[in-house]
Amino acid sequence: MGRISGIPAWKRGLLVGIMGLTAVGAAAGIRGRQIERMAAVIGDASGAEESGSPEPAEEILEKENLTEEAGSGEIKKIALTFDDGPHPCYTEQLLDGLAERNVKATFFLLGTNIEGNEEIVKRIAAEGHLIGNHTYYHVDITKLEEEEACREILDTSEQITAITGQTVEYIRPPFGNWDKELEYEVMMIPIFWSVDTLDWTTKNTDQIVQKVVSDIEENDIILMHDSYDSTVKAALRIIDLLQADGYEFVTADELILE
Ligand SMILES: [Zn+2]
Repeated sequence: MGRISGIPAWKRGLLVGIMGLTAVGAAAGIRGRQIERMAAVIGDASGAEESGSPEPAEEILEKENLTEEAGSGEIKKIALTFDDGPHPCYTEQLLDGLAERNVKATFFLLGTNIEGNEEIVKRIAAEGHLIGNHTYYHVDITKLEEEEACREILDTSEQITAITGQTVEYIRPPFGNWDKELEYEVMMIPIFWSVDTLDWTTKNTDQIVQKVVSDIEENDIILMHDSYDSTVKAALRIIDLLQADGYEFVTADELILE
């Protein structure tokens, strides 16, 4: 059950999401590479771990610099995105680290986690980060009746707007499963990702840092979860390493809208 043509259900959903993104990309100017990278994620069987001892992140960057064209002068932009928050302690730790480094990130919030953490949501907005919708109960939107799916999304947006005063324009659908029809119903733009850190499975700071630093390319959107101490530590280390390597961290909307 749950498999058609040998493709697990979650992968088919992701594929649908990517196909949707291709269409949205045409309208919103999403760069081709993100779509290619997401297709690569699908082929990655949820990211089988590489074996062997990881190469230190600093060495990977050094090697890449040797092969890069010198003096292109352009700023390489990338975006860190955090799903499933706000978390009562790790989100604020992350916000402290982002503020120290003057970095803006994107937070896709769950309605159910906003309850009781309204002050954290206020802080995310006040500090200039982008807030997006991640549904109320972390649902697979493609498995719901349209009315229920809309309620999941609109209730969460309303909740965010009531706290921040800002309209919510972007959604990261849980599991990357998006129903394109809903775009017109809820008037939101989905934002997917091009690098999946798998931080929630490994909970290993070194592995998360190594994965991002070895995979990173300009305009990447990196998927993380601010629900773990290991992720907060990894995110801040990634920022320090990649800022030193000439990357600028921007909110995800800057990378999908040209
Ligand atoms: Zn999630």
